[in-house]
Amino acid sequence: MNREINLKIKSKHVNKYKNGYPLIFKEAIINIDDLHKEGTIVKLVDEKNQFIARGYYGKQNKGYGWVLSRKEKTKIDRKFFEKKIISALNKRAAFYNNPQTTVFRVFNGEGDGVGGVTIDYFDGYYLINWYSEGIYTFRDYIINSLKKLIEFKAIYQKKRFNTEGKYIDEDGFVLGERGKFPIIVKENGVKFAVYLNEGAMVGVFLDQRNVRKAIRDKYSKGKTVLNTFSYTGAFSIFAALGGAKKTTSVDLANRSLPKTIEQFSINGIDYEAHDIVVEDVFNYFKYAVKKNIKFDMVILDPPSFAKSKKYKFSAAKDYKNLLKEAIAITEDKGIIVASTNCSSFGMNKFKGFIDTAFKEMEGKYKLMEEFSLPKDFGTIETFKEGNYLKVVFIKKIK
Ligand code: SAH
Repeated sequence: MNREINLKIKSKHVNKYKNGYPLIFKEAIINIDDLHKEGTIVKLVDEKNQFIARGYYGKQNKGYGWVLSRKEKTKIDRKFFEKKIISALNKRAAFYNNPQTTVFRVFNGEGDGVGGVTIDYFDGYYLINWYSEGIYTFRDYIINSLKKLIEFKAIYQKKRFNTEGKYIDEDGFVLGERGKFPIIVKENGVKFAVYLNEGAMVGVFLDQRNVRKAIRDKYSKGKTVLNTFSYTGAFSIFAALGGAKKTTSVDLANRSLPKTIEQFSINGIDYEAHDIVVEDVFNYFKYAVKKNIKFDMVILDPPSFAKSKKYKFSAAKDYKNLLKEAIAITEDKGIIVASTNCSSFGMNKFKGFIDTAFKEMEGKYKLMEEFSLPKDFGTIETFKEGNYLKVVFIKKIK
C-alpha cells in the first residue's frame, strides 16, 4: 500500500479542485516540502483540514500529480483501478468489433479518471505509457486488472519519465508472448507497421485517425501533396490511397526514409512514385520557393517544440510563421491542413494564428472543417488542456 499524507491547498485554489480540476500543481500546494516519495497518496485538504479530494504524487511536466477521487470514502486500491479500467473498456466496446480499424486508445489518462497513464490497443497487443514514477508505483494494480479483464497477445509498456537523467531503455515487454515486430495493424482499412519495442514513438499517432480518413476520402484525389514533419508518412499513405497525384514527405530524421518506404510498401503503393525527403522542413520551404514548386495540399503537423541545427520551433510562438511558409507554396484554391498538439493554447488562439498569417501574406482563406481528439481519446470538461489536438482544414482562396 502506498502511504498517505495530507496536502494543504491554498484557499484560492480550493474551488478549482472542488469543481473537478484534476491536475495537482505546485502553486496550489502549501506544504510542498512534505512531498518526498513519488506514488504517495495525497489527501488534498483546505486550510481547515477539510477533505477536498484524494490523488497521488507524481511529477509530470509541470504537474505534481493527479486527483483520483473527490469522495472521501474512496480507497485508492486495486479495486479502484479495476473499476476505472472496466468503465474505460465499456466505453470502447464498439472499437473492438471493427475489423477495418484494429488500433485505438483504451485508456486516456485523466479522461478516464487516472491521470498519468494511457493504454493503447494494437490488434491484440496492449501498450501502457507511464508518465511519472508516481503512477508507475501502481503498476501491479493496473497490470493485474488488465490480466483479469481482457485477453491479450502481450502487454508492453513505456516509461515516459526521467530515471537518473535518462529514459530507461528496454524493449518494454511485460507479459504474454513477445511480439515479432513490426506487427501490422489496420486503420480504416489501411495498414501500419508498428514497433512496440522501440522508443516512445511506435510508428503511428492514433489521435489523427479522423484527419487521415478525411485526407484520403475528401481532399486527395488528383492532388499534389506536401506532408511536412512527416515521421513515418502516415498522412502521405492516406493521401496516396485517396488518389493523390504525388506526395512529398519531409522529415529531418534519418529513420523517416526507411519507415516511410515501409508504410508505402505494406499498403502496396510504389514508393518510388512519391518523394521522401530527409531534410529540415524550414530548408525545404526555402528550396520550394526558389524552385517555384507549389502544392495543391500542404500538411503541417509539427511537434510542439523542435530544435534542429539551424532552427528552433515552438508552436505557441512560431506557428503563425510556419503557416506563412506554407501559404507561400500552396496553390490558389489549395488546402492547408494545420495541426498542432500543443496544449498551451486552444482552438480560438490557433485560428487567430491562421488569420494573422493570411493577413500578413495579404491572402484570403476559408475554413473548411476542424478536428479535435477522436472519441477513444476521451477528455473531461474540467481539464481543457487534455483536449490538446487542434486540426483545421483551410482553403487558400488567394
Ligand atoms: N505528422 C506525423 C507526426 C510528426 S512527429 C504523423 O502524422 O505521423 C514530429 C516529426 O517532426 C518527427 O518525425 C521529427 O523528426 C520531425 N521534425 C522535427 N523538427 C523538424 C524539422 N525542423 N524539419 C523536419 N522534420 C522535423
